[in-house]
Amino acid sequence: MTLWLITDVDVEFDQLRYNKLEASRNNLGLTKGLPLLLEFFHEHGIHATLHMQEQANPELSIIERYPKLYDMIDDYGQEVSLHVHIKEESYERRKKEIRSGYNRLKERGYNIESFRAGWYFTNENTIRVLEELGIKFDASPLKGITIGNKKFYNIPDSPYHPSYSDITKPGSASVLVIPVTDIRLGIGIHKKNRYEDVLIEKGIKTLAAKAQEIKEPVIVYFTTHSWKPLTPSGKIREWEAKRREHFMKCLSKYEYKTLTVSEAGELWEKNKYQPYFLDLPHNALKVYPWYSFRRYDFFNRYVISNLHILRYKLFGKL
Ligand SMILES: [Zn+2]
Repeated sequence: MTLWLITDVDVEFDQLRYNKLEASRNNLGLTKGLPLLLEFFHEHGIHATLHMQEQANPELSIIERYPKLYDMIDDYGQEVSLHVHIKEESYERRKKEIRSGYNRLKERGYNIESFRAGWYFTNENTIRVLEELGIKFDASPLKGITIGNKKFYNIPDSPYHPSYSDITKPGSASVLVIPVTDIRLGIGIHKKNRYEDVLIEKGIKTLAAKAQEIKEPVIVYFTTHSWKPLTPSGKIREWEAKRREHFMKCLSKYEYKTLTVSEAGELWEKNKYQPYFLDLPHNALKVYPWYSFRRYDFFNRYVISNLHILRYKLFGKL
C-alpha cells in the first residue's frame, strides 16, 4: 500500500518538562519552540497536528495566556487538537477536565476532532467523554508502554476502534484510536544519542518494506513536544534540529503521504481499513550490540510495569 507520515506536537506549558511550577514562568517552549517546529513543518510541506494544552485551570490554558499562538497555527494551516493532563482515572474527573478545554476552544470557533492525553494516559472513560463531545480521534496510546494501570504492549500497529471495556483491545467504540507506534523501532526525536540516527534510518526502511507487503497503509509516526527544540536554558538544541532533518531525509527516499491526525483518521474510516499487527524486528538489537531486547522486554513487562501499577495504587502517581 503506502506509507503515511502522521506528525504531531504536544504543545504544553514548560512545567510539564520539569514537573515544577516555577519553570513555567517564561514558557520558552511555547513562544520559541513551537514557532521553530511550525516553520520546520512548513519547509517540508508536512501536515501537522498541534495538541494544545487546555486545562480547567485558566493558568494552564494556552488560549487564555498565549492566544497569538493559535493565530500562528491557523496561518500555517495546521490542525488544532486538544491536549489534557489528567492523573485520575475516573469518568467524572476526565469529563470535567476534557470538557472545559473543549468548550473553551469551541467558544473561540475551533471544532476539535482530535485528542492526545497528557503522559499518553488515556482509558475507557476518556473514550466515553470524547464520544459525548464528538471528538473522533484519540492519538494517545503509545505502543510498548505501561501508564497508570494500562498496558499498551499488545495494541494493534494501526488505528482501531477500541472496546468500551478495554481500550487496549479492538471493539465497538466509535472513537478511532490512532496509536503512536514508533517506540519499538526506535524511531523518534529522543535524547542526544548517536545511535538514534541509525535507528531512524533502519526503522523507516523497515516500515517502507512492510508498506509494500500489506494492503493497508503503514504509519510512520513523528511526534515531539513544544519544548524539545530548546535546552532548559532556552538555547536551540542543535542535535534536535539535525535529527528532524535526518528523519525527513530518510523518509524522502520513499513514497509517503503526509497527514494530520484527523486527516489520517478520516482516510482510515473512509477506506474501512481493518486493524492489523505487524511483525517487526527489534532494530535496537542491531545497533546496540550489548542490548538484549528479550531481557529488556521481559523486565519492562513484568517488573517495571508491575512496579508502576503498585506505585499508582499506593500513591495515585504516574
Ligand atoms: Zn503533555
